Amino acid sequence: MPSPALAAFIRALPKAELHLHLEGSVTPKLARRLARRRGVVLPGVDLEDEAADLRDAFPFVDFSGFLRLYLAIASCLHEAEDFAEIVEDLGDRLAAQGVGYAEVTFTPALHRHRGLADAPMLEGLAEGRRRVLERHDLLLRWVLDVVRIFPEQAEPTLGFALALQARDPGAVVGLGLGGPEDRPHEVAPLRETFARARAEGLHSLPHAGELDGPVRIWEALRELGAERIGHGVRCLDDPALVEHLVREGIPLEVCPSSNVCLGVVPSLAEHPLPRLLDAGLRVSLGSDDPPLFQTDLQQEYERVADAFGWGPSRLRALAGASIEHAFMPAERARRMQAALAAVPAPPGHEGREAS
Ligand SMILES: [Zn+2]
Repeated sequence: MPSPALAAFIRALPKAELHLHLEGSVTPKLARRLARRRGVVLPGVDLEDEAADLRDAFPFVDFSGFLRLYLAIASCLHEAEDFAEIVEDLGDRLAAQGVGYAEVTFTPALHRHRGLADAPMLEGLAEGRRRVLERHDLLLRWVLDVVRIFPEQAEPTLGFALALQARDPGAVVGLGLGGPEDRPHEVAPLRETFARARAEGLHSLPHAGELDGPVRIWEALRELGAERIGHGVRCLDDPALVEHLVREGIPLEVCPSSNVCLGVVPSLAEHPLPRLLDAGLRVSLGSDDPPLFQTDLQQEYERVADAFGWGPSRLRALAGASIEHAFMPAERARRMQAALAAVPAPPGHEGREAS
C-alpha cells in the first residue's frame, strides 16, 4: 500500500466521484439495520453478527451473485426516510474522502418493479441531498438509470428524472443505462427516450464496454448520444473506437476494483488503466458499488498508485480530470480546481512531484 503520507495527500485532493450507485453504496452495517427494520432476509448475511468481516457479509462470486445481493439490498428500502438515510450515510463517507461533488446513479425501475411508489423515492432523495449539502461542502447530483434489458422502463425512468428535477431543481444531471450488457437486448428502443432526455437538458451517461466489447460503446455513442461512458475499458479492443473517443474527448469512468471483482480483468496489475491513459483517453476513477467491492474512492486512488507506481503528479491529474469530466456548476469546479492545485506534495515528494 502507498505510504501514509501519500494516502493523506490523496485524501486531501478535492475529487469528484462520477461512477457510484446509491443502492450499491449501502454498507453492511446500514443494510443490516434496514433489513431488520423492514423484515428483509439478505442472502448469506447474518443480520445479528455486527462484527462479521465485509467479505463475509457481502459474498458473491460472479455478476449474477452480485445482482442477487444488489436486489436484496434494494428491497430493504421502503419509506422516504430509508432513502434519505442511505444518501446521508453515503454523503458522510464521501466527504471524509475529500469528495466535493458526486454524480450518483439511482435506479427507480428496481424499486418500481417490487411495487414501490415514486413518492418515497423522490422525497427521500431530495431530503438526503439537502442533508448532505447542509452538513458538508459536498454537492450530490443524480443519474437516473435505465436497466438495459427492460427498455419498457426507459420512459418511466425519464418521467422520474423530470419529476425529481421539478421537485429539487438542479438535482438531476442525466440519464444512465445499466444492467447486463451481454444478454440479448436492443438499444434502439431507448434511442427516443435518450433523445428526449437530452432535449430536456439531461446528459447521456450510459454504462458500456464493461461486460461486453466495443460494439456496446459504439451503440451508446450512436444510438444514445453518450457524453461520457461508464467503464468503457474494453474500447481498447477497437483502435478506431479509441481514436474516435480521443478525437471527440468522450471521457471514461473507470472503476478498477469493480472490474477485478466482476472478472472484467484478471487482476489490478493487469488492469488497462495505464494503457487507456497512454492512448490519450480522458479517464476518471470511480468506485461503482464500494462496499460490495470492498473499496471506496480513496482506496481506488491508493490501489492504482500502488499497482502502477504512480506518485503525486499522476494522482493530482486524475483528481483534476474527475472535476473536469463532471457536469458540475462552473463556480464549484473552479473552486475545486484551485484547491486541488494548492494541495502541497507529500513529504519526500516535494519539488519533484514524482509521476
Ligand atoms: Zn456502474
